[in-house]
Amino acid sequence: MTQEPDTKTCGMCSMEIPAAARKCPYCLHWQRWLSLQNPTILVPSLLVPLLVFYGITEPQPEPCVLTFSLTARRDYTN
Ligand SMILES: [Zn+2]
Repeated sequence: MTQEPDTKTCGMCSMEIPAAARKCPYCLHWQRWLSLQNPTILVPSLLVPLLVFYGITEPQPEPCVLTFSLTARRDYTN
């Protein structure tokens, strides 16, 4: 009664696959979505820290852009 089933049904192709399978052998659908071996998880998990790092280290825009536009407008009105 407490014995776990040794097979499960693939949610993608409905084929019977081993319960421990991480990837369906028929349709290659990843059974565990949050596996680091899953490329759709691995790539963003590598990119997100990279983007956060560059977002922090990127210099903030200088206020000289605002002063330039004010100076240009003053020159235009004169
Ligand atoms: Zn499948």
